[in-house]
Amino acid sequence: MAEILKDRSELDTQFQWDLTPMFENDDAWEATLASLDADIESLSAFAGKLNDAVTIGAYLDASTEVGRKVERLYCYASQRHDEDTRDDKAQSMYARVGSKYVKMAAALSFAQPEILSLPEETLTAIVNDPAVADYKFNLEDLLRSKPHTLTKAEEKLLASFGEVMSAPSEAYHNLEDADLLFDAVKNGAGETVEVTGSNFVPLEMGTDRVLRENAFHSYYKSYREHINTFAAMYSGAIKAATAEAAARNYPSSRAMAMAGENVPAEVYDNLIATVRKHMPAMHRYVRLRKKMLGVDELHFYDVYAPLVGDLKKSYTYETAQEMVLKAVAPLGEDYQETVRKAYAERWIDVYPNRGKRGGAYSGGCYDSNPYILLNFSGTLDSVSTLAHEMGHTIHSWRSRQHQPPQYADYTLFVAEVASTVNENLLIEQLLQ
Ligand SMILES: [Zn+2]
Repeated sequence: MAEILKDRSELDTQFQWDLTPMFENDDAWEATLASLDADIESLSAFAGKLNDAVTIGAYLDASTEVGRKVERLYCYASQRHDEDTRDDKAQSMYARVGSKYVKMAAALSFAQPEILSLPEETLTAIVNDPAVADYKFNLEDLLRSKPHTLTKAEEKLLASFGEVMSAPSEAYHNLEDADLLFDAVKNGAGETVEVTGSNFVPLEMGTDRVLRENAFHSYYKSYREHINTFAAMYSGAIKAATAEAAARNYPSSRAMAMAGENVPAEVYDNLIATVRKHMPAMHRYVRLRKKMLGVDELHFYDVYAPLVGDLKKSYTYETAQEMVLKAVAPLGEDYQETVRKAYAERWIDVYPNRGKRGGAYSGGCYDSNPYILLNFSGTLDSVSTLAHEMGHTIHSWRSRQHQPPQYADYTLFVAEVASTVNENLLIEQLLQ
């Protein structure tokens, strides 16, 4: 059902996000962008001076302020760009703020190594100094990386090998995305159907079992034909990660991967153990699936097939809004009030239009509303996406209301808690 998408200008603005609280218009954005160079220059003046708590505190205050400004500029431009990725003006704004970001990062790259090069005792004293009390957590974070930061010469050497180290992963993506081809297959009616990397999953989600089975065999046949190449690339990626972890004094590449977010290894092990412990629920689900599909033997190509045949149920956006609002009731009146605010103040860009970025996300920055991009299509999946992104949005909103800018961000590790809880609440409400 290829539907002709409308141009953005033909859609009701009521269902488009309102970016004016961020910048009144594109001209206001341009003026702020123009003021950025002076800010970056004044930050560069700190170079070579970051050796006491008072100066470090002043630098952190100044860089946090400039960071906020760049973030706001970046968010506005990237959201304007997402509205219609073909739009020349938005493309130019997005590209220009991107290069400013790079310029700022380069100009400020002195700070971290400069602070880290201070002797251990000096650093510990600075971290506990009241002059930097507002940044204690950030500095502790930085301090944690000290044993894993090498000398200037060693860092340079490692950086020069960076591209070599990523060669296995690059080769993998090229093989998988470009070179791997799949045989066309027959569907249940005897017609020929192309199999590609991007349509494989949709084919597995269809109701035609013959097509699902044939597509499955065609897909994995191609992988099998390159089995030794895939194995060599995987082994290369593991060796690269292990070598870097050893060079940086980490006990393992896993420890290195989790160091950034400071997640203890026990949390990782516990996650795996918890999933294993609950496997009986998965097995029960698979038995139920086999029964509902009425098959003698359940194959892998049956696990994505719909359990209710070709039934299509559709929801209007207004219904979806009500469903999400009702679903989050257990989180309190206060939470629901913020959801209503998100609807009323146009935090959400609802419908697809020509050129609009695909998928969905929750974003914004410290000084903006936590905007949501959707491509609402009326499926239950679309309703669930609204619930999911609303979880991120309210998490961000509350964090930005209650934390200073340097602490408002949250790690990816905890981010999906807020969103998947909302999905579960929606399912709970549907079951009732
Ligand atoms: Zn998410």
